[in-house]
Amino acid sequence: MIFISEPAPFLNWLQDECFYSLCSRQHLFLGSHSPEDTLNYLFGNGAKSFAHDFPKNLNFLSNEAKLVWGNADEIICEHTISPIFFPFQSPEHVCALKQAMKSPWLGSCKYRIGLVTGRFGGAHPLKACVECINADRLIHGSAYWHLSHQIPGVTTCTVHGILLLESKENRQWTRRFQWVLPDESTLISPDRVSTNHTSLKALQDMSSLAMELYKFGITGQFETRAVAQVYKGAFSNLGTSQKSCESAADCFAQYCSELQGYPPFSSLPCSRRCAIGFISQMTRRPRGYCHPLKHLTLISWLFGRLEPFVDAYQQLTQQEISVAGENQKLRLPQTTEQQRPLTLLHSNTPRPKKIFHSTTEKILQALISGSSKKQVCLRFEISTSTVNRILRLNPLIEKQITDNAYTRKRDEQRQEWINVVRQRPDASTNIVKLSIPHIYAWLYRNDRSWLSSQTSLLPSGRGGNHASVDWDARDENLCTLIKQARIETSSISKKVLKSDLYQKIPNLFSSLEQKSHYAKVRKLLSEIS
Ligand SMILES: [Zn+2]
Repeated sequence: MIFISEPAPFLNWLQDECFYSLCSRQHLFLGSHSPEDTLNYLFGNGAKSFAHDFPKNLNFLSNEAKLVWGNADEIICEHTISPIFFPFQSPEHVCALKQAMKSPWLGSCKYRIGLVTGRFGGAHPLKACVECINADRLIHGSAYWHLSHQIPGVTTCTVHGILLLESKENRQWTRRFQWVLPDESTLISPDRVSTNHTSLKALQDMSSLAMELYKFGITGQFETRAVAQVYKGAFSNLGTSQKSCESAADCFAQYCSELQGYPPFSSLPCSRRCAIGFISQMTRRPRGYCHPLKHLTLISWLFGRLEPFVDAYQQLTQQEISVAGENQKLRLPQTTEQQRPLTLLHSNTPRPKKIFHSTTEKILQALISGSSKKQVCLRFEISTSTVNRILRLNPLIEKQITDNAYTRKRDEQRQEWINVVRQRPDASTNIVKLSIPHIYAWLYRNDRSWLSSQTSLLPSGRGGNHASVDWDARDENLCTLIKQARIETSSISKKVLKSDLYQKIPNLFSSLEQKSHYAKVRKLLSEIS
């Protein structure tokens, strides 16, 4: 309940303000008793939760708010981070993400746009610039969250050039969702940050590029097959001999190491071998759920800015258009016919056996895209031993195929698990396990950390029956995760900060809220922190 005598007016947008920020200011303005009161005031009583990065329930936003703030589409494109995920997605995925944000359920959208499986992570901490906070307080009387600071890949303020700080609030490991505004007391420097001049310059360039891609994403999209061709062309301009390829990979790895100290770039390739793998993946057709930061890193190194990349892309597609008689490639969401890759539109593709080199590439491409060896043998009329020989001659690709197969399998299993949990929100771990024993068994063998993180979430907050919960197993699982996290962050000091562990193990904090359980975890924590 909000105790006000007459309806409060809705506040107006401030410049470069994100949707979460405006809702937070409205919350303070209303003087609501709890975050839930404001949530229900804005989105109706059906709204149960809210995320600052991907808001949902936008179709249920109160009509009065819509009049002042704009409709759901305007909010999505102009006041959320989502447009940076659009440029390399199919129109269907973009449409599905927008629909999800309008509905009460985000569903599997985060997975489809590369947030769950990508190495860049799905956490988007709220970010702020201390200079902007001071300026905003002077000009507007209040600090607020700038949209441009929240965009993934933006790590420095595009106005002041300094590193952004991250909020400790609304993290995966914090107690509950809150409507908050930037405040120095809750802002921290991200992990492992120590930037020299070169790194800062690289981060500033990347921040500008991420903003350019975000703006492009509001209306434009790329076709990923052509994007891969543009990358390939740019790399072949650097030389095609093995020596040139290796030196390009070294240079790229060096560039990545300048960004690597700052999340979310910590997983970028920093060795020649990893750089070759990265480049080889991106110069083939990148998968739909490739994270935009992966593209941005390559574009940043190859082209510096977005504009020369868009020029190269348009040049390539225009050449292909004149060949294929097509008339538009850089497009807004259109018909299914226009979304088909250009290769499908060429009518006289040579028969595979006539051009062996090209056939080999097609075979490898088919395997990378997930076709089984058996399917490839049938399609290209070759034997299994030929496929194996081709793979032996291309070890990097063979590894990529194995990795892809594992990732695909893992994603399927995770998705199955998530689906069952979503269908039966009150079910305990045991019930879920009994309903899909094979999935549980696979995840237990191959993806145990993820499984542990999911099982420990199950009954909490769902008001379920805790009697059937295997607390000892959870206690053990969390201890394993903590030990793993310690090894990953092994430093000279034997002590670890609890907040670091909370950041690395999203459900640790909420688990410790169960005061009568997790004795081993508590003991371990008291020893190491
Ligand atoms: Zn600033």
